[in-house]
Amino acid sequence: MSKTVLVTGGTGLVGKAIEAVINEEKPPNERWLFVGSKDADLTDLQSTRAMFERYQPTHVIHLAAMVGGLFHNMNNNLDFLRKNIQINDNVLLLSHEYKVQKVVSCLSTCIFPDKTSYPIDETMIHNGPPHDSNFGYSYAKRLIDITNRAYNQQHGDMFTSVVPCNVFGPFDNFTPGVSHVIPGMIHRLHETIYLTDPEKPQKEKIFSVYGTGKPLRQFIYSKDLAKLFIWVLREYENVEPIILSVDEAAEVTIAHLAESLVQGFQFKGKLEFDSSKADGQYKKTASNAKLRKLLPDFQFTDFDLAIKETVQWYIDNYEKARK
Ligand code: NAP
Ligand code: GDP
Repeated sequence: MSKTVLVTGGTGLVGKAIEAVINEEKPPNERWLFVGSKDADLTDLQSTRAMFERYQPTHVIHLAAMVGGLFHNMNNNLDFLRKNIQINDNVLLLSHEYKVQKVVSCLSTCIFPDKTSYPIDETMIHNGPPHDSNFGYSYAKRLIDITNRAYNQQHGDMFTSVVPCNVFGPFDNFTPGVSHVIPGMIHRLHETIYLTDPEKPQKEKIFSVYGTGKPLRQFIYSKDLAKLFIWVLREYENVEPIILSVDEAAEVTIAHLAESLVQGFQFKGKLEFDSSKADGQYKKTASNAKLRKLLPDFQFTDFDLAIKETVQWYIDNYEKARK
């Protein structure tokens, strides 16, 4: 029987990467629909219902969310909480009403307890308060897992979730004040090199990294995450969340990331660290042991290569990039 897969948030960073993999794969017996906020406002129940009525999905990948980096979260915890609760409740309710066979929703490693042992694993999501900087986003995301369990217990629905680490790649949101660290730094480094003081020799330019540069992060390339998402939709039959992250050994400091971006841009100037700006969570090291057990041979793209490709995408698509 053929599947109709509806991807909410299909116009964003992760959605575009899934679309690229599917366009290459051209799977028979699967119709994929990638929708954004122009197709439906998912904070609105009637609008969400109209979309489900129009597309009649058999499967849903649920990505749509209010998303942002550390500084956007710090200033908007209420909006992150309310919008994401509304979106998630509407999408899961309509998925139930339209008898969707499987929903894969998206959590994040930044929603785990702030005070915890490392590495974090799938059993620890609800074990304590999240970091203060993003508690709105975190509690809204945690409720997806709770809602999935409740739909499964009461109705037998197969609603599950994945837990990616920090994601980056083409089609990211490069908007200052909103963006995550990689698109944020790409945007600012591009401005430093090409737009600010065009007369000044590049060697004399200074690029400021926010914070101390010491926090640690695991970064997954959107193309790798896209392949894993598609695998989860087709093969993973469990309500329990699964972490989709690079290995613990691939964790890097923000300072290392800055160096990799310097290489990606071939920037000739100097880096400085602005420790007056927030560091956020020091680390959120996640274990991908569960994923590795199920999919031992999965190859992640080399980090520096993925950074180079993302920088090149930004330069080539500067006019249309979200910024
Ligand atoms: P993104 O690029 O900002 O895309 C967000 C998507 O959600 C867009 O397609 C947007 O549609 C849609 N959307 C937002 N509000 C909506 C609304 N009210 N109604 C309908 N659609 C709405 O985000 P992303 O980075 O791809 O994130 C995708 C998922 O991954 C999210 O659930 C996020 O929490 C999760 N995640 C992201 C990261 C990361 O580092 N980026 C890490 C872990 C987990 P329009 O663009 O058309 O407005
Ligand atoms: P997080 O991983 O959820 O904390 O969110 P981000 O992706 O926004 O990463 C935040 C980390 O990167 C913090 O340690 C920031 O101090 C650091 N950082 C350095 N430069 C930037 C920047 O230009 N934008 C952002 N968002 N963070 C930056």
